[in-house]
Amino acid sequence: MRVTVLGAGTSIPAKGHSPAGIYVQIAREHILLDAGPGTWQRLERAGAPWHQLDRIFLTHFHVDHSLDLVSILASLRLPPVKRKKPLHVYGPPGLKRLYRTLNAAYLDKLSPRGYRVVFHELQRATLRLPGYAVRSVPMNHYETKAIGYRLTAAGKTLAYSGDTDVCEGVVELGRGADALILECSVPDERKVEGHLTPSKCGRIAAEAGCRRLVLTHFYPVFKGYDIRARVRYAYRGRLTLAKDFTTIQL
Ligand SMILES: [Zn+2]
Ligand SMILES: [Zn+2]
Repeated sequence: MRVTVLGAGTSIPAKGHSPAGIYVQIAREHILLDAGPGTWQRLERAGAPWHQLDRIFLTHFHVDHSLDLVSILASLRLPPVKRKKPLHVYGPPGLKRLYRTLNAAYLDKLSPRGYRVVFHELQRATLRLPGYAVRSVPMNHYETKAIGYRLTAAGKTLAYSGDTDVCEGVVELGRGADALILECSVPDERKVEGHLTPSKCGRIAAEAGCRRLVLTHFYPVFKGYDIRARVRYAYRGRLTLAKDFTTIQL
């Protein structure tokens, strides 16, 4: 499993920290976890075969995680792409309504041509896919019904929280994972509801017992704060602070 963070930030423009998106090569498939603005272009920049994309797993529908669903559907229908295989899109309840609303707003220019798009609405679910399994677990992120994803292939497990505040679900999501990717939005001194801070990420990682912790989704308010030191209050495992295009191999 090869994992590339395509966006380690939020909707606020910040160098090296674009909106949320993660590219995963898993078994024989190419998948995206979230699709914030610019993810589709950065997927191409990462050298991925974007036209072969098999599945998109959205954690929730905030713009910084979902807007490029529009770009993806608008481009895959164009004749030069010659796409045949179906595209599966997963997300919390409301996904199908979101698609219908966006497609109406864009005057039907998202409707697939020459291939199929299949939408799957999930909360707590386990999916058996070709060569790997995916589990979705409810997170704690305002009223969004947000879910995190846990992917397992060939005995290796990757977990990704999307956006969340502290909850039992996020510990369950990362339990014993080879890599846990957590959102880390703001410093401890500037905690906001619905998001995590470095010390909370450290505590979650320690409780989950994950082998490696990768932090992402940094708002540009961290200047002058020592993120690593705060994580280290609780967590002693391998720690990576993601930037755009940070890649890990499991
Ligand atoms: Zn969000
Ligand atoms: Zn977000």
